[in-house]
Amino acid sequence: MESKSDSFNFPFEPYDIQRQFMTALYEAIEDSKVAIFESPTGTGKSLSLICGALTWLRDHKRRKFDDSMHVDAVCILTDEPDWVLENARQERRRDALQAREARERRLARAREREARAFEKYSEDEPSNKRRKKIISDSNDKDQNLDSYLLDDYDSDEQRNGRSTNPLATLGLSKDTLSLLDRLGVMSQKEDDLEEKEGPIIYYCSRTHSQLTQFVSELRKVNLPPVIQPDLHGDAIGISPDNVAESLRHLTLGSRKNLCINAKVSNLGGNTAINEKCLDLQKVGTPEDKKCPYLPKKEDEPIINKFRDHALAKIRDIEDLGKLGKRMCICPYYASRPAIQLSEIVTLPYPLLLQKSARDALSICLKDNIVIIDEAHNLMDAVCGIYSSSISLSQLQLGRQQLMIYLQKFKNRLKGQNRVYVAQTIRVMDSLIAFSKSKDGSKIGTEEICRVDELLAGKNVDQIDLFKLNAYISESRLARKIDGYANHLAKEQSSTSTAASNERNTSMPVLMHLQSFMAALMNPSAEGRFFFIKEDQDLIIRYMLLDPTNHFKEIVQEARAVILAGGTMSPMEDYKQHLFPYVSPERLSTLSCSHIVPATSLSVYPITHAASGLEFDFTFSARKDNKMISAAGEALVSFISTVPDGVVAFFPSYAFLETCIKAWKMTPSTVSGRSIWAAISTIKPIFHEAKSTSLSTSTKDASSTEALLPSYTAAIRSGKGAVLLAVISGSLSEGINFSDDLGRAVVVFGLPYPNPHGAEWTAKMQYIASKVDAAPGSSSNGTAQVAAGKAAAREFYENATMRAVNQAVGRAIRHRGDYAAVLLVDRRYATDRVQKKLPGWMKESIKPAVNVQEAARGLTGFFAEIKRNPRANT
Ligand code: SF4
Repeated sequence: MESKSDSFNFPFEPYDIQRQFMTALYEAIEDSKVAIFESPTGTGKSLSLICGALTWLRDHKRRKFDDSMHVDAVCILTDEPDWVLENARQERRRDALQAREARERRLARAREREARAFEKYSEDEPSNKRRKKIISDSNDKDQNLDSYLLDDYDSDEQRNGRSTNPLATLGLSKDTLSLLDRLGVMSQKEDDLEEKEGPIIYYCSRTHSQLTQFVSELRKVNLPPVIQPDLHGDAIGISPDNVAESLRHLTLGSRKNLCINAKVSNLGGNTAINEKCLDLQKVGTPEDKKCPYLPKKEDEPIINKFRDHALAKIRDIEDLGKLGKRMCICPYYASRPAIQLSEIVTLPYPLLLQKSARDALSICLKDNIVIIDEAHNLMDAVCGIYSSSISLSQLQLGRQQLMIYLQKFKNRLKGQNRVYVAQTIRVMDSLIAFSKSKDGSKIGTEEICRVDELLAGKNVDQIDLFKLNAYISESRLARKIDGYANHLAKEQSSTSTAASNERNTSMPVLMHLQSFMAALMNPSAEGRFFFIKEDQDLIIRYMLLDPTNHFKEIVQEARAVILAGGTMSPMEDYKQHLFPYVSPERLSTLSCSHIVPATSLSVYPITHAASGLEFDFTFSARKDNKMISAAGEALVSFISTVPDGVVAFFPSYAFLETCIKAWKMTPSTVSGRSIWAAISTIKPIFHEAKSTSLSTSTKDASSTEALLPSYTAAIRSGKGAVLLAVISGSLSEGINFSDDLGRAVVVFGLPYPNPHGAEWTAKMQYIASKVDAAPGSSSNGTAQVAAGKAAAREFYENATMRAVNQAVGRAIRHRGDYAAVLLVDRRYATDRVQKKLPGWMKESIKPAVNVQEAARGLTGFFAEIKRNPRANT
């Protein structure tokens, strides 16, 4: 590997830990590794990812280009005279430079055009007749009943449940398919890979706000061009100034983010928007019913223009949507041709993690680089994407709609439609019968069930489930049934337009069946079915227990896969349960220290109350009134010492509610008033509640949006405040309690999930069985059973500690920040738990103390910061 720039084109002089991060990242990509990076919030992780990865990319392309200039590469006949070889070399260099110059000119023109257009049009002003067309587009109310009729379906089209036409499932019109195909959008053939300039970096994160934040960091970076000006610049007639090369970035989003057809985007839900969009462009849809923004053959020049505009500037998803609106072309489709010309593509989790989404966007990861940020929940995210559920009420409503539909159209259904619709009803009946048989189950207790129990209905075993699954998906059965149900609802209630519009916005009930059927018909060996009786309903759930195989294709195709996050510890889980097939040589990890000095963070394991009672918040001990009172007294002590804001996390909503109730009734040992009154006298209390709503002691705040400003206002008013929240609740991830918003984070207990619940029992059994089946393990013997149990227990503990680590990671958010972390439970004093805390925290962990000692330590910590603030900035 050639030497790289020491600063990695970082916009400022990087700190040591940033340099360390970028060096490790650069090497991981160069060496095609699967790497896990932990770098706490506030350490410039995004910029380090950007600069490390993009510096590698430009260096890599430069090395490739220089290699191609090598004499042997330029001319196979190496016995040619030197002047011939030199001419050939210069010619190749000139061609490459001219191609780059032409591309940069095109992008510059796009920027200029956009600047002019910006002055001319307001963002939402209709700018051409395409726009007018949608305004005059006929309304759904005129829709002919025939449009709800299922198209002929020929089972000969299928082979083992898969359509012979791989594009059929995308539901695009022939025109669209041929246009996208000609633009190289629909299929990325192996040969195409030769033509692109180099690898693409795919960066994905969980939420759009995280992606927007990342994109704003991208704007700060200036990269040197791939081809550096050299002494030959003059000789080949290209000015050295013209080798400048802007960063080509593209942001990808779902239809939900990018749809500019108001009639479709107003449907709200992801599935509803996807389905409606595909429905509008289905083969046979009359021209005047199609979406006017969908690219057509004659739109090729606009698509090319859109591509240039998309790449000419660093844009976030909103910018891309606005660009589509301004150019009156669907940005969801029109952005695809830009993928292959991009250097870095940003996209949300589902578009990268779900194979069907990658296929729909023609994303090929082969030899490219995948960076997954905020990856602490990656395993859960992959499992969630491939899990699904359906309720008894949905099944009953779907069946009712299907029967009404059959009554109307039965005699007009052709091909295999009648057969498949009848089969769908049989499967639904089977699921309904199973659900009813479990109706007497205990409310709230989840139980496991088997596929054969779910499919025990009459003659269901004779159905080819693969073919039925393909039929449900390709015939768009759910959308047709839902469309007809909507039509009837409108007819029956012509006066209640609002009600019928409301129906339109929800996901068609049969779509739930469609996604559940996909799991039911092809359950993975790593998946399990569960059922749970809720108040008025019974839910059947399919859950993927192990993400390994679904993530494997990404790892096998990509050149390098990087997982990054603020708190990735404990990292062992990723090695064991996400990458068990990756060789140790290909795996690497890095846990960066914090950007703040160790003196800015003080971590206390607090094992005893002032009374000497040992803190034990295990599930059975949480009901102990003495323990609950001691927790409240401890909080009184902490908030008396800690300035400004204190955030206290509880292991569950139930325990938080129990504490609040008890604290309101129990007198404080210090003041004689209730513990609750003692706390609120010192700082106003705000608390999270189980529903999405949150409440406060002083005023009705009904949402996180309302609670956080109130909490902030109380702190800024000088009174300080205490916020009671729940680990893994709405406030334990993604919320920034920097500076005075969180001078201390208190954690009561460890949020272990119930190991005897159906979900965790299944997970732990599965992990134990994997150890049993691992190559080289003996198939029986107590040692093997013990190893399986130990692996399952480790996984269970690690999942718990990841949640704790997310919560405590809320405290320190930037270089000048300082905070205390108070871990209240005897178990926090053990090595077993402490070694699972984030690496950046370990230097700041104090010996275990009781509440009084902790309070003294806190007084000293904050006094020292006050005395010597410069040491901590
Ligand atoms: S083609 Fe684009 S704009 Fe039209 S409905 Fe589909 S996503 Fe929306």
